[in-house]
Amino acid sequence: MSKRVIYLKNAEEANIIKQNGVILGKAQAEVAKLIGVGIKTKDLDKVAEEYILDNGGKPSFKNYNGFPATLCISVNDVVVHGIPSTRELKDGDIVSVDCGVFKNGYHADSAYTYMVGDVNQLTKKLLSDTKKSLFEGIAQVKPGNRIGDISYGVQSFTEGLGYGVVRELVGHGVGKYLHEAPEVPNFGKRGNGPKLQVGMVIAIEPMITLGKRFVVQENDNWTIRTEDRKPAAHFEHTVMVTKGGYEILTTFEFIEEVLVSRNLEII
Ligand code: MG
Ligand code: MG
Repeated sequence: MSKRVIYLKNAEEANIIKQNGVILGKAQAEVAKLIGVGIKTKDLDKVAEEYILDNGGKPSFKNYNGFPATLCISVNDVVVHGIPSTRELKDGDIVSVDCGVFKNGYHADSAYTYMVGDVNQLTKKLLSDTKKSLFEGIAQVKPGNRIGDISYGVQSFTEGLGYGVVRELVGHGVGKYLHEAPEVPNFGKRGNGPKLQVGMVIAIEPMITLGKRFVVQENDNWTIRTEDRKPAAHFEHTVMVTKGGYEILTTFEFIEEVLVSRNLEII
């Protein structure tokens, strides 16, 4: 099977992915309950892993190409693929938590960036604009549009506000494999790339920087951080192309219920 083949999903498969999206959203909510000053990132990883296992799923990322944890936890200038550790979150940090759930043969993939305590205004706006850019991308999802329309939607929105768009890492198809075709870049031209067809399931995941767009990889061979050490944000949903446009198969609902109940600001 070629990695370039795009696997379309039927309603039954989409339903499995959506059910996994609920487990994923609730695992993310367990993390949201604990985000705060002094928590170790490995403790966040533990609650997410337990929740997924208790609900009959498997963490998609654990052992994926040797990744050692359930969550990618990326603090401040770390863009993605941060490894959970004994690092404690501090007041003013931002922390991106990326998680995948595998159950009944399919994956779901989603990420959310949280604020820890008092975050400065520019960084807060980075988070809010990155989240908006995810929905700018999703708004382009409909049969007949192309991947490039999604890419352009994210890029034009974020670069228009002066942010950097990371190019080395991209969204992707999601299904039996965590990463399937097609690639879903956060930069591109309208009308370019594979045509969106009913049943395509893709992860759209803008990775947006407050400074320049350039990234480097740490020598742990995972951690990707900004070259200029400015903060980066990351939001992700798994989305299916439907006849009428799209359906979002993952959810921020459970996360945001927790944030509301903790009197934390939703950006
Ligand atoms: Mg992800
Ligand atoms: Mg992804």
